[in-house]
Amino acid sequence: SAASVGRLGLGGGDTPSFSRYSGVNLFSQLPMSRKTKNGLKQSKYFEMTDIQRASLPHALAGRDILGAAKTGSGKTLAFVIPVLEKLFRDRYTPECGVGAIILCPARELAAQTFEVLKSVGRHHNFSAALIIGGRKEVDLEKECVNNMNIIVGTPGRILQHLNGTVNFDCSELQVLVLDEADRILDEGFKKDLNAIISQLPKKRQTFLFSATQTKSVKDLARLSLKDPEYISVHEES
Ligand code: ADP
Ligand code: MG
Repeated sequence: SAASVGRLGLGGGDTPSFSRYSGVNLFSQLPMSRKTKNGLKQSKYFEMTDIQRASLPHALAGRDILGAAKTGSGKTLAFVIPVLEKLFRDRYTPECGVGAIILCPARELAAQTFEVLKSVGRHHNFSAALIIGGRKEVDLEKECVNNMNIIVGTPGRILQHLNGTVNFDCSELQVLVLDEADRILDEGFKKDLNAIISQLPKKRQTFLFSATQTKSVKDLARLSLKDPEYISVHEES
């Protein structure tokens, strides 16, 4: 399969251990590709925020993350960076198909996340798509969606493609992200989310980020989280 080809030549030593990187403050000190580091630098990101400092070493070591930190604390980079690095380490190219899905609860949020992904990921050769379009765009999306390594979108629209787009294949998915997870886990998205998850491989990395910590055991079981790291960053008083 595409993913296993991508893993050829990568030994166990490629996944950095957590402890060596738990005290660092700068993105440049993290164990990641030069492509991502340069993208961060050119996007003018140098020092990590608290949630980034607390979660990135775990995420880059391959763990599932349940992250909570208030709005504006920098949660986007806490998942965009490990998505890029996971696909980079797995040697993803556009022919490998869908490697990561980032679910956002609203079109505007998805669009903002896509901008961050494009900026920080500018030196990578991945294909990426924002899947939120109106009715007009659906045919256009259908043509490209299966050639996309990273898909950012809203649950309803991604489900529409999973159900209605021939050849849309997520069986090699490596990473699933729920941004604003508390909203996506809410009743309103329940049906769509369950239908999406039922079509994704269980063996994958999963990140949940929101302003409040999701502790519902049912939700975590539903998402097949494996021994996740719970990371909460509170404002200092
Ligand atoms: P959240 O998702 O937690 O609400 P965002 O990821 O949207 O937060 O980030 C909020 C703002 O902080 C954005 O304008 C973003 O560019 C900025 N930001 C995020 N991380 C950093 C960083 N490490 N250094 C400087 N600015 C950052
Ligand atoms: Mg956010």
